[in-house]
Amino acid sequence: MGFKLGRARAVTAVGGVLKSKLSFQKHSSSIPGNAIIRKNLPDNIIAEANSPAHGKDANTIYLNKNVDPNSDLAKEALKHEMVHLTAMKISPGKLSYTDDSVTYEGRTYPRKDINGQDMIMDINTGEWKEAGSSDWKWEKDANEAITNPKIKNKI
Ligand SMILES: [Zn+2]
Repeated sequence: MGFKLGRARAVTAVGGVLKSKLSFQKHSSSIPGNAIIRKNLPDNIIAEANSPAHGKDANTIYLNKNVDPNSDLAKEALKHEMVHLTAMKISPGKLSYTDDSVTYEGRTYPRKDINGQDMIMDINTGEWKEAGSSDWKWEKDANEAITNPKIKNKI
């Protein structure tokens, strides 16, 4: 499964931005101290944060190669991912994940693939929900960083 948590997802195409091909501008949206790496990612993934345990790309953020790094979409997605990355850097108890679990603020949630979907169990209700759901506390916290109302509910 790999590192799926922390991806800002475009639920629907935002103004066709994902389809536009733009010239490669390395690190043009860089945030001090954390490298932004342009990368081939699935079409519905705008950006994803790489945890301190991610090996050579630890503490970086991947940005979909097809997204203009200077677009509002990219800027908001990077702000969202920065919240995840900052949480992961604070401690594994603040935010960390494996193929089988997600830990947030000291509580660990089981995780598994169900019918090809990356699912996490709400330990309060026993209900399984998609990893990318904005119902999760860690996603709510990251979404608070997004200020553009047009993008707020899209990633
Ligand atoms: Zn997220």
